[in-house]
Amino acid sequence: MSEAFIYELSAPGRIGVEMPAPDVPETAIPEAYLRAELPLPEISENEVVRHYVRLSQQNYAVDIGFYPLGSCTMKYNPKVNERMARLPGYTDIHPLQDPLIVQGAMQVMYDMQEMLAEIAGFDAVSLQPAAGAHGELTGVLIMRAVQCHRGQSHRNKVLVPDSAHGTNPATTTMSGLKVVEIPSAADGNVDMEALKAEIDDDLVGLMITNPSTLGLFEQNIVEICDLVHEAGGLVYGDGANLNAIMGITRPGDLGIDVLHFNLHKTFSTPHGGGGPGSGPVGVVAELAPFLPGPVVGTDVEGAFVWQWPEHSIGRVRSFHGNFGVIIRAYTYIRMHGAEGLRQISEDAVLNANYIQARLAEMGDYPVSHGNRYCMHEVIIQGKLEGAEDIHTLDIAKRLIDYGFHPPTIYFPLIVPEAMMIEPTETESIETLDSFIDALADIAGEARTESELLHTAPHKAPIGRLDEVQAARKLVLARSA
Ligand SMILES: *Cc1c(COP(=O)(O)O)cnc(C)c1O
Repeated sequence: MSEAFIYELSAPGRIGVEMPAPDVPETAIPEAYLRAELPLPEISENEVVRHYVRLSQQNYAVDIGFYPLGSCTMKYNPKVNERMARLPGYTDIHPLQDPLIVQGAMQVMYDMQEMLAEIAGFDAVSLQPAAGAHGELTGVLIMRAVQCHRGQSHRNKVLVPDSAHGTNPATTTMSGLKVVEIPSAADGNVDMEALKAEIDDDLVGLMITNPSTLGLFEQNIVEICDLVHEAGGLVYGDGANLNAIMGITRPGDLGIDVLHFNLHKTFSTPHGGGGPGSGPVGVVAELAPFLPGPVVGTDVEGAFVWQWPEHSIGRVRSFHGNFGVIIRAYTYIRMHGAEGLRQISEDAVLNANYIQARLAEMGDYPVSHGNRYCMHEVIIQGKLEGAEDIHTLDIAKRLIDYGFHPPTIYFPLIVPEAMMIEPTETESIETLDSFIDALADIAGEARTESELLHTAPHKAPIGRLDEVQAARKLVLARSA
């Protein structure tokens, strides 16, 4: 039964809804609109509910257990955020309403712009982009527009360190610019000599993730920003890892010119199939006139109004961004306050370092850059002595049997057999310990019962998939 598709539960004549009697005269539906061959399932309400609840129970979620997906900040989503987003004053309005009668909603957006600017050290923010990658595209288009405005339209090159998320080179390419990859040095920082060799008059700018996707703070960040600025370039900050630095340092103060926030990562709104994201973009004063519009501003009487930045790159999304997500993140920021946000980052870094220290002590899994403190995430390698036929994929799949969502695997690409673990601040020490214990048990199994790992998972609704085929040939409905 649990494998059934909803069409298979169908039986002729079963009905799931009772329509009220019409209060207008009945008319025949035009023939052309009726499709006799359309196979809609006939099924009772009870069966529909059971079908979907059953399916939902086959899914893993942050509300079920530990979800240490590196570079994704899968933190707990506080339920108070949901209550606020469902207030009728927010749900029963329309983006095209006269600003005079939606001042409250506009104030939330205005305050959110101001709070994000304060958190990351910027002068202006647009809430429009729908996700991190969309924020990146917006940011790169802004950098290109600024260069054209400066009379530097010949510039066509964006430098991207090799530890970057794949979205960085992708968004640069989408905006018509050329990507040049910069290698990392042995200590995990950007290779400064390689960087200097690529800095020239063709530079639009650099995209940098700090803390990097190696889970490390880029120690030369100020010098890197200075070098790019001296050559007339701009610095894009990938803000996906903001959870490590809130209240401790600000990208804008370090020399970053434009940065995206992932509200669905740092600011606890649902993601990973749980709902839409939001990727606001913050900029320094020189770039503010280029932001996508409209943004919320105030008029002389203090009323909230829609304003178009003078040299705006235009809209990047219909209406005003994912408003429901913005309310959730706004609630999260107001619930924690400035001190609370700093505490979040300190705890996130502490949790990751706890895992790093315990795994180093255990000695089974090589810790990448284990000679440095990590930030909010730690990278280990699925390379076990005495179990050479076991790979990261096997370990990740076996973790499912222990009740954990696997960490991010094989990313960043520059660490062989990488497993990227981001615990976040919302996990207890008991959870961290049981996860570490599971990794220790799995290391033992790898040496004595490797077949158990090669064929894992054994307790999931479905076993080992062909990962490529599963992604390319999704089976969404059983064919007749
Ligand atoms: C998640 C992530 C992105 C992309 O953000 P989305 O919201 O998923 O589009 C970009 N860079 C890094 C480092 C990330 O972790």
